[in-house]
Amino acid sequence: MQESINTYLREVLRESGEDVSGKLAAYIPRLRDADENLQALALATADGQECSAGDDEHLFTIQSISKPFVYALALDDIGLDRVRDMVGMEPSGEAFNELSLEGGTGRPLNPMINAGAIATHHLVDHSSHEQHPGGQESLSRTPEVRSRTTRILDGLSAFAGRQLEIDWDAAEEEYATAYRNMAIAHMLKSHGSLETEPDEAVRGYIDQCSIMVTVKDIARMAATLANNGVNPENGARVISAESARTTLGIMATCGMYDASGRWLTQIGIPAKSGISGGIIGVLPGQVGIASFAPRLNEEGSSVQGVAMFQHLSNELSLHLMSNQ
Ligand code: GLN
Repeated sequence: MQESINTYLREVLRESGEDVSGKLAAYIPRLRDADENLQALALATADGQECSAGDDEHLFTIQSISKPFVYALALDDIGLDRVRDMVGMEPSGEAFNELSLEGGTGRPLNPMINAGAIATHHLVDHSSHEQHPGGQESLSRTPEVRSRTTRILDGLSAFAGRQLEIDWDAAEEEYATAYRNMAIAHMLKSHGSLETEPDEAVRGYIDQCSIMVTVKDIARMAATLANNGVNPENGARVISAESARTTLGIMATCGMYDASGRWLTQIGIPAKSGISGGIIGVLPGQVGIASFAPRLNEEGSSVQGVAMFQHLSNELSLHLMSNQ
């Protein structure tokens, strides 16, 4: 059984690998210099079975795939009402790094675009997390940034079921040229949607994006969402079932940015993509799926990853809106 699934996953990798269109993210050397031929696919079921194929040990920075997990942590820490006061729940139909806020409320539209993710980042409760992630590397951060990053690193590690680490060099590269995210944070601050200083929120958000994962890690993280917030591998509860459900609703409507409608219609799996080339998908009660391939389409999602999900959705009948 296991062998036939592995053979099938390898076949999906081979077929999706034929499309070599798309470009690597170019805004930092760490992403620009990635090997564009890497490819991996992993599945982790809600009852703890796992399989993977391709470059499944390759570590990459999690980037925007961190957003749903940090949103889930914030929901668990301070509750849906307080999170919703600061961050909306509606699709934006815009690019991930658009400088936009909801008319009337001044909130970011949702937690999956950068504006919402930077605001969400600063909502996690870091008060009891005093140790510091990393040694020397994190010393240029303020104590507030360090304790928040520790809380987030520990939280994402719990989703993954192993201790994750931060790529400090990638974080440094990104922070050095984070003009747009800084502009977003200043915009949030000027509308009262940020309680901390803008540069602290961006610093911590970039550390969050620089957490290193393999495709197997993010499949297990997705499986924890699929399993109502309990890590299927070690049985630990990471977030409440309610927080998992809310997060999946946001992923379904906003996870693929301005392609979210098309994605939900054609592939039918709540998902989240990241600019380093990863995509996760979650079928509630069933499975977490993760792909990795660094060439990106116009919306900043992996070209081959989209193809892999399309294969799985069609061939394994995973579309949520279909019972065939
Ligand atoms: N760190 C990246 C940014 O904020 C993450 C974006 C992404 O993965 N789409 O620009």
